Amino acid sequence: MRTYKIVLLFLLLSVIGCHEKKESTTQNHNKKWYKGNLHTHSYWSDGDEFPEVILDWYKERDYNFMALSDHNTIADEEKWITIKDDSIYQTAFKNYLHKYGEEWVDYQIDSGKTKVKLKTYDEYRNLTEEKSEFLVIRSEEITDKFEDKHIHMNATNIQEKINPMGGSSVVNVIQNNLNQVLNQRKITGEPIMPHINHPNFYYSISLNDMLQLNGERFFEIYNGHPMVHNMGDSINVSTEKMWDLINISYLENNKPIMYGLATDDSHSYHKKGAKWSNAGRGWVMVQADTLSAHALIHALENGNFYSSTGVDLETIEVKEGIFSIAINEEPGVSYKITFIGSKKENSKPIEFKTVTGSKANFEITDDILFVRCKITSSKLQENHIEDLLFEMAWTQPISLINNN
Ligand SMILES: [Zn+2]
Ligand SMILES: [Zn+2]
Repeated sequence: MRTYKIVLLFLLLSVIGCHEKKESTTQNHNKKWYKGNLHTHSYWSDGDEFPEVILDWYKERDYNFMALSDHNTIADEEKWITIKDDSIYQTAFKNYLHKYGEEWVDYQIDSGKTKVKLKTYDEYRNLTEEKSEFLVIRSEEITDKFEDKHIHMNATNIQEKINPMGGSSVVNVIQNNLNQVLNQRKITGEPIMPHINHPNFYYSISLNDMLQLNGERFFEIYNGHPMVHNMGDSINVSTEKMWDLINISYLENNKPIMYGLATDDSHSYHKKGAKWSNAGRGWVMVQADTLSAHALIHALENGNFYSSTGVDLETIEVKEGIFSIAINEEPGVSYKITFIGSKKENSKPIEFKTVTGSKANFEITDDILFVRCKITSSKLQENHIEDLLFEMAWTQPISLINNN
């Protein structure tokens, strides 16, 4: 049966106009948009700030959910760090102590060195969470290698730590780790969401590797770390091009559609600029019933989200075969809306249509394999990386072929 893979529903029912009603449109006014970052580091691995400080930074900037995804840990053991001598870090510790207080901060000064006990996941979550406003989801960046390739995968809402499994090839390493995540999901009954991180980090994971996987639904099309080559180079495809090529192959081979995430992968909270992996560059906007890990992951798996580096969308809707987009415009800013995808008989990515403005429609005809929408703003992104100068947003691909 042909069914719409996703029907995203939003505030404006009347965007499309007065087409004859042929199909039912689900519109749920109870669903809300939640902003979140699924890839973040702290002192628990190679980030340079305390979890509470990082979470409060995001909370103050209207994020609704966060996953601190430190390398190969779920922050449940006892861990002490030594504050570096550099005045940046000494001052940051003083600020931390001042803000959270002597009662909360567990530290010792030993031979002139300040040692601090990190708060565990339960501790930092309990301190920062706010019902219906701010959610902290447990996560781990399962950090593995094959020869000189760096193979990283996040597991959002992980319940128990997963050790990197290794393997006999890049594909085998990814699949082994992915299977561990999916197995934990099966055993626990908890939705746990694996996503492949920054494939172009040291050009570790190729398109061909991605095509061979089974069971992966998400990967990063935008990662805010300065070493991840989102844009590719003369030899390697960009992550965005990779995304379309993956979906052409997946849909032709009856695999579920691959969704694209934007994340920060933030590590550096004190030095700012294009050379540093700073917070606030890329995020997801998820439309869900409630602010819970279950509801968010369910929505993500249904494609009810978009990725952004600044552009805010008002409407993403598929109704009667028409795919509609409306942007929450900022004064003085213009937007280029491009519909990108592939046709069934011609398996290559195509730009179907580009519109300048704050609204656009695209008719999904029978010859379309999938279509997605990319919005590029005329507004420069604050603190950009690579040559990704302008604020953007990416909706998830829509296919009328149902492979689920
Ligand atoms: Zn990584
Ligand atoms: Zn990372």
